[in-house]
Amino acid sequence: MILNEKVNGKNLVWLDNAATTQKPQSVIDRISYFYQHENSNIHRAAHELAARATDAYEAARKKVQQFLGAGSVNEIIFVRGATEGINLVAQSWGAQHLKSGDEIIVSNLEHHANIVPWKRLADKRGLTLKVIPVDDDGQILLDEYAKLLTSRTRLVAFTQVSNALGTITPAEQIIALAHNAGAKVLVDGAQSVSHMPVNVQALDADWFVFSGHKVFGPTGIGVVYGKEDILNETEPWQGGGNMIQDVTFEEIRYHKAPNRFEAGTGNIADAVGLGAAIDYVTQLGMTNIGAYEHALLEYATHQLKQVPGVRLIGTAANKASVLSFILKGYSNDDVGKALNQEGIAVRTGHHCAQPILRRMRVETTVRPSLAFYNTCEDVDRLVAVVSRLASSQY
Ligand code: PLP
Repeated sequence: MILNEKVNGKNLVWLDNAATTQKPQSVIDRISYFYQHENSNIHRAAHELAARATDAYEAARKKVQQFLGAGSVNEIIFVRGATEGINLVAQSWGAQHLKSGDEIIVSNLEHHANIVPWKRLADKRGLTLKVIPVDDDGQILLDEYAKLLTSRTRLVAFTQVSNALGTITPAEQIIALAHNAGAKVLVDGAQSVSHMPVNVQALDADWFVFSGHKVFGPTGIGVVYGKEDILNETEPWQGGGNMIQDVTFEEIRYHKAPNRFEAGTGNIADAVGLGAAIDYVTQLGMTNIGAYEHALLEYATHQLKQVPGVRLIGTAANKASVLSFILKGYSNDDVGKALNQEGIAVRTGHHCAQPILRRMRVETTVRPSLAFYNTCEDVDRLVAVVSRLASSQY
């Protein structure tokens, strides 16, 4: 088990969960079982292993459907990750429907993955990109958001949890206001699905994306949820095998969703691995995970705040997992290296979210981020190193 690794002679403390999560043995075993007993391409053959691989892959789709509370398996598209999912929506639905003068709204909290695809489309098509501002704690300003919505707003794309600050956004309200204005909504769930129960139907999101590797599954697999009617009226993104009903040189007819968005051979084994990760967290219970992490985050926030010279970046009332901070007198890199010396893994840098860090008047932070396998002892070890650095400064 990787969490038993030694780093610099110390027991590893993994506090880089917002970047990626560690994998339960059941996930590793499931992928290994797939290659030992089921490996085949899917959907296209009469032989036994094709049936096993197809069953395993489609069972994983069913697990994702239930995990997200989607109405149908047809609404679950496997992609490489959240980034690919957002690009898929931008380049298929976006390219098909958005034209000069239309408006897209994103929030100031977004990861680059939910900025760059929209900015590129905006530049190409003459769209206006508007930004929902946040307050000094990193909380969405709903009143300001309401003022941005107009009859030209076609899309609102925002994150459910900020990867840089940990802010939990008021997703239901953002979505309801967008729908009232006649806009569609994409929710970036990359940082939410591992920390809280999510129900896409209750949210009423038009699309919802996440990455397997941030929810204890493998890298290279992720999901786009989309409402079935929207998916079926959207032109496919990539063309190739698996997504067509019939091909002649004169005409091509596409499958309905999800296959119309899964051209070529997908990441079959890792989709199956993601299914095992979903089984794992479902067994623990997302509500239990959320409650445990909430208590741990409160503990960690309280401890870290006591350290002289620590400035917490992102102090929203409603937060998940993330504790961004800077320490007076030290570069963030120095803090990260000192922690690594003690076997503690945290991220330092801009976390692919430069606009929100600049809004908070910093370029980079140190970012410990929690998961259900972290403990108060992990937090104590982190705080001990930061306190030692701080005390040698004063
Ligand atoms: N959105 C958010 C909020 C993220 O935190 C991340 C990754 O850190 C992404 C999108 C992109 O995820 P991936 O790199 O797995 O595609």
